[in-house]
Amino acid sequence: GWRTVINFGIPGKLPYAVLLEAQQNVMDYKGLGYSIIQLSHRSSEFTRIINITESLLRELLMIPENYKVLFLQGGGTGQFSAVPLNIIDLKESRCADYIVTGLWSAKAAIEAAKYGDVNLVHPRLDTYTKIHDPSDWDLNSDASYVFYCANETIDGVEFNFIPDTKGTVLVCDMSSSLLSKPVDISKFGIVFASAQNNIGCAGVTVVIVRDDLLGFALKECPSVFDYKIQVNSNSQYNTPPCFSIYIMSLVLEWIKNSGGIEVMEELCVAKAKMIYDTIDQSDGFYVCPVEVNCRSKRNIQFRINNDEKESLTKIFLEEASKIGLIFLKGYGSVGGIRTSLSNAVTKQEVQVLVEFMKEFMKLNG
Ligand code: PMP
Repeated sequence: GWRTVINFGIPGKLPYAVLLEAQQNVMDYKGLGYSIIQLSHRSSEFTRIINITESLLRELLMIPENYKVLFLQGGGTGQFSAVPLNIIDLKESRCADYIVTGLWSAKAAIEAAKYGDVNLVHPRLDTYTKIHDPSDWDLNSDASYVFYCANETIDGVEFNFIPDTKGTVLVCDMSSSLLSKPVDISKFGIVFASAQNNIGCAGVTVVIVRDDLLGFALKECPSVFDYKIQVNSNSQYNTPPCFSIYIMSLVLEWIKNSGGIEVMEELCVAKAKMIYDTIDQSDGFYVCPVEVNCRSKRNIQFRINNDEKESLTKIFLEEASKIGLIFLKGYGSVGGIRTSLSNAVTKQEVQVLVEFMKEFMKLNG
């Protein structure tokens, strides 16, 4: 049965209670005779769902009043375009600062360069394994905004601080870290996150935008990506991803019932520590290429030492999946092993992985 596997991949594991409730409502939504998937976005039921989703998110993240919350399509990748399309014109310079510390922020910078001048703030990296001290950054005071990615999902690199932009609007891709720890939203102009890593299923992207940034969209900006248009229509300028929003509402409820964001953070820190400790105590059998101060607590990237052709890594992945530890393969160009620890992954499940890692090391070390 599916419950015997442990999902360390992306999209991330969802809580069992969420899936169970969704399953029932897919067949018959609240006894109304139709599927939740067929619920009209113009119905009062859907209005209730989207409003609950927003208020739970506001409550859990303590989002200030002067921020709008949107539920859009297009994924994190869509937001790589939407951000410049909405705010590159904030200042006449039409330029933006990008702090590139991994493959996702690199992609965001390439996309933004279609709409304005992009300044790469962070020293160029050969491998995405560190975050330079901000004193090495080259911020441009003329930039309309500064962009960074809080947690680089592929590279396993995470910021443990919020960059100080000296007053320039700060934009953050939190696709893989939102809801894994408390965050002071008031430090940001725009925060966005596609849902499938940690807050639901693919199809919906959360955008949290400070209200004074609305109304600067380029005339070429597609209406579905125009924050002001979407704010004015409560994220329903076009058909919203209703089912994905519904799933998110269940995940948010689950987080609230589990004790809230602080509890998620504690869990996240404890789970990550279990794996990093195993790596660091393996006498060099496993190595994490990421510098200690920016190791991700959400996506742990590691490899088997001296396994250049990844033949032993391949066996590791095969043996792991035989006992139900699945989706541990690192991203294509990066290789190695990656464990994504969504909120729903339990400590007991991580313990199974840790024991497997130790056993594998004993047999192959
Ligand atoms: N940013 C980050 C940090 C991500 O992890 C991802 C996808 N996992 C994206 C952007 C792209 O999101 P999407 O695939 O929804 O476009």
